[in-house]
Amino acid sequence: MTSAQRRFADRHIGTDAAAQRTMLDALGYDSVDHLVRAAVPASIHSTPRTTTDIPRAATEAEALAELRGLASMNRVARPMIGLGLYDTFTPSVIARNVLENPSWYTAYTPYQPEISQGRLEALINFQTMVSDLTGLDTANASMLDESTAVVEGMLLARRASKSASNVFAVDADALPQTKALLRTRAGAVGIALVEVDFANGGVLPVEADGEQVEPFGVLLQYPGASGRVWDPSGVIDAVHVSGGLAIVAADLLALTLLRSPGSLGADVAVGTTQRFGVPLGFGGPHAGYMAVRQGLERQLPGRLVGVSQDAEGHPAYRLALQTREQHIRREKATSNICTSQVLLAVMASMYAVYHGPEGLRAIATDVAKKAEALAGRLREYGLSLVSDSFFDTIRVVTPGPSKRVIDRARSRGYQLFWADDATVGVSVDETTTADDLAAVAWAFGLPDVEFDGGGEEGQRAVPFDDAVPLAGAPEVLRREDEYLTHPVFHTHRSETAMMRYLRTLSDRDYALDRGMIPLGSCTMKLNAATEMAAVSWPEFSRVHPFAPEADVRGYLAMIEQLETWLAEVTGYDAVSLQPNAGSQGELAGLLAIRGYHDANGESERRVCLIPSSAHGTNAASAVLAGLRVVVVACDDQGNVDLDDLRGKVEEHRDELAALMITYPSTHGVYELDVLEITSAVHDAGGQVYVDGANLNALLGYSRFGDLGGDVSHLNLHKTFAIPHGGGGPGVGPVAAKAHLAPYLPGHPFSQRKDHAGGVFQGGPVSAAPHGSAGILPISWAYVRMMGTEGLTDATAAAVLAANYLAARLRDHFPVLYTGDNGLVAHECILDLRPLKEQTGVTVDDVAKRLIDYGFHAPTMSFPVAGTLMVEPTESEDLGELERFVEAMIAIKNEALAVAAGEWPKDDNPLVNAPHTAASIAADEWTHPYSRERAVFPVPSLVRGKYWPPVRRIDQAWGDRNLVCACPPIEAFA
Ligand SMILES: *Cc1c(COP(=O)(O)O)cnc(C)c1O
Repeated sequence: MTSAQRRFADRHIGTDAAAQRTMLDALGYDSVDHLVRAAVPASIHSTPRTTTDIPRAATEAEALAELRGLASMNRVARPMIGLGLYDTFTPSVIARNVLENPSWYTAYTPYQPEISQGRLEALINFQTMVSDLTGLDTANASMLDESTAVVEGMLLARRASKSASNVFAVDADALPQTKALLRTRAGAVGIALVEVDFANGGVLPVEADGEQVEPFGVLLQYPGASGRVWDPSGVIDAVHVSGGLAIVAADLLALTLLRSPGSLGADVAVGTTQRFGVPLGFGGPHAGYMAVRQGLERQLPGRLVGVSQDAEGHPAYRLALQTREQHIRREKATSNICTSQVLLAVMASMYAVYHGPEGLRAIATDVAKKAEALAGRLREYGLSLVSDSFFDTIRVVTPGPSKRVIDRARSRGYQLFWADDATVGVSVDETTTADDLAAVAWAFGLPDVEFDGGGEEGQRAVPFDDAVPLAGAPEVLRREDEYLTHPVFHTHRSETAMMRYLRTLSDRDYALDRGMIPLGSCTMKLNAATEMAAVSWPEFSRVHPFAPEADVRGYLAMIEQLETWLAEVTGYDAVSLQPNAGSQGELAGLLAIRGYHDANGESERRVCLIPSSAHGTNAASAVLAGLRVVVVACDDQGNVDLDDLRGKVEEHRDELAALMITYPSTHGVYELDVLEITSAVHDAGGQVYVDGANLNALLGYSRFGDLGGDVSHLNLHKTFAIPHGGGGPGVGPVAAKAHLAPYLPGHPFSQRKDHAGGVFQGGPVSAAPHGSAGILPISWAYVRMMGTEGLTDATAAAVLAANYLAARLRDHFPVLYTGDNGLVAHECILDLRPLKEQTGVTVDDVAKRLIDYGFHAPTMSFPVAGTLMVEPTESEDLGELERFVEAMIAIKNEALAVAAGEWPKDDNPLVNAPHTAASIAADEWTHPYSRERAVFPVPSLVRGKYWPPVRRIDQAWGDRNLVCACPPIEAFA
């Protein structure tokens, strides 16, 4: 390290030595280390480790150089493998202003709608785009990927279908990765799958166990994985006759030319929006989508944006029908999805906004012409196609072994799909050129396209301008109706207009680039620019997840390093980075536990104990893993009630599969009894799942594996610096002890032998072998630049900051739970219920008033109603912590003024918060407090004010008048 370069950890951690000294003095500790060692129970302190598994911290320059090295080990090829994943041009205006813009990528999930109007508008554009293109009434604001969306569609059909059948019929031409995922997920909940070759005359009912059965649902791939375009309306009608539902997995680009699933009678459409400008990223992150017909909207998984109105009756967006979600419904939830893919959904929606319907149609037409031209050239040379009805993908019967063609193509940098020994798949996309087509034709051994350089490229290229798109596709499938008619898809064609639209939206939002987001349980820490850099490099972004091993060695090396580091810091033996959110890591971990019990002949072990304080995803994931949830009580200190736990363990001894416990708890305390808890479960033959989302309180001081954990998920989008993106992406790796490793998720397309039928034999939980690999450089860089010491320092600084806030605010708001020594972990729960009793001011009022003070509210009413959970993280400096303290105390005093009768209970700065610029500019100001008090309650706001664009938004109104697509422009007049 040159002396000019500061240690990265000192850039990442907001408080310097002097600030920490001040904070420690206030707490009465002489060093940060002593404070943390006092907070973390002595019984679980890790013995200091002298591992070399994690290298010494790199500087930012060194980390970037190493990443360049890894990148150079990947080969930027031309991926033409298809299977739902395509190369795409990300419009530069979107790459720069969304993907690489902290105003978008550092935002949180829009639970506080008043400060999230920009991303909520982008998401309602996304919903409108999906709903228009699929021809269905309501679309949600993204799914984790196409294959998990199909699974959610199957589960939706099971809930909504009137059929009593447990059979789900799967199109033989569905994507292979989707079929693999369906097997994992259907098996866990007792659904039987039957594969039917619908495109080749397969019909309903289907045969299952020697009997004819009517399935409760069917999955149809449109166009098929093989590229075939066929009319599925007959199958759709047939499944409806017996009360089943039809789910169509559709390609959105194809839908600009082909009849929509809705118009063909589908109940549900699912798929991915990847090819709408979202880089491949070796499998993700991309936004999956789901749309449903009218009547099924309450069955939708995931987040849904709706139109509501604010306190002045102006239209405003907010999340709709939230009571469906796992954090409310827990084990009765219909899905465990929490973090989804908001940033990528924003990108895809902006691709549609920028290109508009005519632009999308032109891109699709071009793509179809390219496929047609290539097919024509190959046919001329006597080759035959499996089907002549296609959009962008052809399957070619090869004269010799198909591998020869694939190898020839690879020698020129083209990746084709090996369908079988005599068939090759080729998919074209918006980036494919006439020269690319020529190279592919050459790979099939055509004589006149010998690739010898020279000056006759033009002649050899395969021109496609005059090709007839969809020449072989059924005439009835031509799309006639209009889509994307809303003005938003017609008014941002110039780059200037687009840039300004993106700026207008992000200006409405509050993200980490404005100030602290002290959200308990969410760990909104710095997402450093150096960590983000490599995400945009083509060596990482333009890589197909099913590319051959030799082309992705840089990725594999990076993944293996990161796995080793995560195993080391958690005390586990094996790590899978495949799950693309915390919820999916939970599911993978629970499925591993289940697989382990089954392999031991103990398939009666199906009970999962979950403390009442657990995150909602825990219970929802357990149900999806086919386990029965039994809730364990918590005592008045917020700890697991040991007696209740012992009683439940005893009661369910023979059926006990697992305990899921969060450490430190969601109450923000380190439970003293954790070792007793884990051994009680082990003694009864159960496994211990430690939810690792709160690892930021422990990293470097203790390890889940040493606490008795058998398996955990981590949230790289919390502890390991991946930005939240306004509600995704995320990565939820699952880490386990050696005895569970064989049951971790494998993947049929994994480039690693140990993951494709080797060590990891569990079924996949994500569409791609390495999940959202495209954002792993972020966490890799974080660990690489922090080193063991920096990671430990970050934990200490986070715990110090939380305890400092608790100490500064304790006299004004009781801190609900602390450990024996009065300390909290990395977050603290402020109890606002006494304030409500005393003054009538609610936790909602305080949260909204914080907006007037320039803050994102802490986590509201989770895990305890009427409270705020504050997690400052290590990245905030003392000035920002003090600004928060000042705001909270000032708000308390405002509440006391209400109680004292200074302001009426129904007209005061709290109940009226937040205040917009328009509200104080009104001619008449009738409130009993000044305009200045409304918007500048502390002087520092005068120069640095964040102005919310709307007043407080009404939840109930939006749910009553459910509108989940772009409202008419006049509504905002
Ligand atoms: C965030 C969180 C989860 C869920 O993670 P997602 O990535 O949102 O699915 C689970 N458990 C706890 C304790 C969490 O804080």
